[in-house]
Amino acid sequence: MSAPRIPTATVDLDAVRANVRSFAEAVSTPEPTPVLAVVKAEAYGHGALPCARAAIDAGAAWIGVADAAEGVALRAAGIEGPILAWLHSPSTSWFSTFAARLDLAVSSLGQLGQIAEAAEDARRGRHAAVVDLHVKVDTGLGRNGALERDWRPIFDMLAELEDRAAVRCRGVMSHFAGAGEAADAAQLAAFERALEAARAAGCDPEVRHIAASGAALAYPDARYDLVRLGIGAYGLSPFDREAGIAMRLALRVDAPVRAVGGRRIIDLGLVDGLPPVPAGRIALRDDRGRRWRVAEVGDMVTTLELAEPRGEASTPMPTPAEPAGTSEAAADPQDGRAEQAAPIVAVIDPASPEASADAWAAAGRTINYEIVTRFTWRIARRYEPELPAERTVVPWPPLEDPQRPRLAPLRVARIDLELAERRIRDLAARARLHRGQPWSDVVDLSADAYGHGALDLLPMIRAAGLRPLVRTVLDADEARRRGLGEVLVEAEPPASTRALYGFDPAEAAGPLMSLHTELLAIKRVGPGQGVSYGYDWVADAPTTLGLVPIGYADALPRRAGGRAQLAIGGVRVPIVGKIAMDQVVVDLGELDVWPGARVTVFGGREHDIPLREWASWCQLPPQVITATLGPRIERARRLP
Ligand SMILES: *Cc1c(COP(=O)(O)O)cnc(C)c1O
Repeated sequence: MSAPRIPTATVDLDAVRANVRSFAEAVSTPEPTPVLAVVKAEAYGHGALPCARAAIDAGAAWIGVADAAEGVALRAAGIEGPILAWLHSPSTSWFSTFAARLDLAVSSLGQLGQIAEAAEDARRGRHAAVVDLHVKVDTGLGRNGALERDWRPIFDMLAELEDRAAVRCRGVMSHFAGAGEAADAAQLAAFERALEAARAAGCDPEVRHIAASGAALAYPDARYDLVRLGIGAYGLSPFDREAGIAMRLALRVDAPVRAVGGRRIIDLGLVDGLPPVPAGRIALRDDRGRRWRVAEVGDMVTTLELAEPRGEASTPMPTPAEPAGTSEAAADPQDGRAEQAAPIVAVIDPASPEASADAWAAAGRTINYEIVTRFTWRIARRYEPELPAERTVVPWPPLEDPQRPRLAPLRVARIDLELAERRIRDLAARARLHRGQPWSDVVDLSADAYGHGALDLLPMIRAAGLRPLVRTVLDADEARRRGLGEVLVEAEPPASTRALYGFDPAEAAGPLMSLHTELLAIKRVGPGQGVSYGYDWVADAPTTLGLVPIGYADALPRRAGGRAQLAIGGVRVPIVGKIAMDQVVVDLGELDVWPGARVTVFGGREHDIPLREWASWCQLPPQVITATLGPRIERARRLP
């Protein structure tokens, strides 16, 4: 294989298989417990379909996903066996979930009523199969799931519905907050009360499950009939220490080093999901056995410094002859010859504790889950052992289609192409005025136009006589692959080349992109209710909590937790508790809103939260927020 010019991401499916086996072995006492493999959020960045297949090969009896869209896609791709989805919009097309034979988690009386009504309608039509439900009980996480006062009414209603044979109570499930041993024990006791409520109502759930990777390893009592294996399947520990079982890291990211203006860089940066880290905290190894320190993770590229030039520390670093930004090889600091192949560094390196996902997480003050899950899908995953082409999925942000039945909760980035066209015309007029001034006619389309869709913007830019630019070889290759024609390549153009997007509030009137989601559920809680992992936030008075189906896999960097807000009907509400992979909780206070209400993350209208405020909560440049939207975010274009 010739050395790659661009970064690559490789997923070791043998490692996934080995991890599932090793985990199943670890939970086999006192008796074997079936495993549900969690492949939500594209299998934490590893690819849902290949990982689901690998997990099933290794004996996983169930597949778990967050929303029904993820489950239906897997079923359509040929995954057999039970698939459970647990995060539903009130506007879900339940019929489509029935047709795909998904098991559905039910989190409230209202949701049970909706599903049951659809199931009975379906029975009157042609769909005869019983719909399998898992009652999701909130035993203390304060997030999705029914509160204790609703348990008995839900089981009573289910028992009655079972008599009519459209739905079945197949399972009861809950999820730990991981807020310490005492809190875990309290959750387990609450789960027992939920099971008692089910029995008392006459339900006989065959699958009781509460434990994810961490609790399944830590508490044999919590294993019940099924354990849900997420992070462990990918070889990462759910704890802030080692997991204590044999695991193999599945994701590896490599990148060639190139020289730009005397600096050594790789074409990966914050827009690719890497976290900002202090200089020198991460050390990468290259294919010649040398160590490179990460000096700075920039928005588009990361600057490296050779750590141990093997006794040649006094040798000056040669400056490449090419103009900045255009050189691609010439990166060997030993001699700087252009014809020499560029060294390849392992950026996320299963073999090195200094550059593992855990090392990146510790240096970036986050968790290993976020490192792998947010790693950009602009770099397609390759699979080892190699898969036939049709088995690899390369997701692309799907375009919102109003005709399509809704399966996922609403998560949509709206891109105002009408505004884009006007702004491009203004930029072109200004460029004509300042003819000859460098950069005045250049528009930066890096990172798929920072998540706005380069393919949509390019024709307007060309028609206006402006010149497109990208900042990395990765983007230049992508432009070539997609037939975008000639583009300039320059690593650090001035910020004025990004005026189109409205990132800089001083430059232009408002952003091109706004990001929206919806309220899935609300619940009234009393003082003392902790919310989300580790109970970072505890209600100090009665209040109403809202569940919003967007997390760090989608758009909200975890580092914004504790500061960030969302807007509902123009009113700001704080995100409380940790930002999770698929969802956040907001404190609605006394705000009068209902499930299905539109939630705006950021936007340009009067009461919207500006993108720059999100950027400041995350301490990241605004283009990083728009460029790192995950594959579950739909893109809707407002056409000129
Ligand atoms: C994500 C998730 C899991 C998997 O958790 P890990 O800690 O990754 O094992 C299990 N259950 C639910 C409900 C989840 O949302």
